[in-house]
Amino acid sequence: MRKILRRLFFIFIVCAVGYVFLTSIDSNTGDIEEVVLKDEELLEIYYFDVGEADSTLIRYKNHNILIDAGNTIDGKKLSKYLKSIGVTNIELAFATHAHEDHIGGMQWIVYKIPVDVIYMPEHFAEWKSYQNLMNSTKEKNVPIKVPQIDQEFNIEDLNIKVLWVGKSEDYNENSIVLKLNYKNTNYLFMGDATNDVELQILDKDIKSDVLKVGHHGSKNSSSANFLYKVEPKYAIISVGKDNEYGHPHDIVLEKLEKLNTTIYRTDLSHTIRLKSDGEGIKFDFIKTDVNGGDLRD
Ligand SMILES: [Zn+2]
Repeated sequence: MRKILRRLFFIFIVCAVGYVFLTSIDSNTGDIEEVVLKDEELLEIYYFDVGEADSTLIRYKNHNILIDAGNTIDGKKLSKYLKSIGVTNIELAFATHAHEDHIGGMQWIVYKIPVDVIYMPEHFAEWKSYQNLMNSTKEKNVPIKVPQIDQEFNIEDLNIKVLWVGKSEDYNENSIVLKLNYKNTNYLFMGDATNDVELQILDKDIKSDVLKVGHHGSKNSSSANFLYKVEPKYAIISVGKDNEYGHPHDIVLEKLEKLNTTIYRTDLSHTIRLKSDGEGIKFDFIKTDVNGGDLRD
């Protein structure tokens, strides 16, 4: 009898340890997510903590795709970090639009890491960060191409589709909007796209598990109709701590909360890393030292 009890107790301990191991505690909300990923062929997405700016890395097998590269002041640190995690080549880079908080760091990426091609909207800017990027790409022979709406990039199991790119005087409205599909999961990247852009893509297939929220959570993006159609389970907001713009706006947070979307913010959680096997999605949070703009604890 004692032997049976001991065996039952042993089985209980093994189950309890296994349960704790297979669940992850969500550091933002304290919720317990029961997501178990197959540890092969994982997609990784890093939403970098670059303060009031934007930079995202998509990794799959040996492929690296970069969307924006933060402010100029973040560039050196970001390239160093990318190297430290084994990024030796970027085969596809998107500069969503010419504002400094998106392209500023990209000149450093071009100087420090081989980049095969950069896609950006067809526009010209006079400011220094744009000119520096142009100079670095000339020096390193990196071609700059203008993407077309509905253009697709297929890399192994990944499909990246250009949902929007503009040609207006308003740089935010030119933002390249991308949708990534990996097996049964979908990810939307909005750059600084405005409500007007959201209206333009409303009839497309925009439903996504994870939304990279447009324009750092500005109230001029994330319209109710748009969010309702995207129906994100998770929303990522790239935003600087105590930034002067008041991002993210409460009204955007309220709309997302109404949709029961879990919100992660770089000002609260540092760099947000997503992992997926194409079915489940898991998050963890890393202190990456890629933020050159403000001192962080
Ligand atoms: Zn921006």
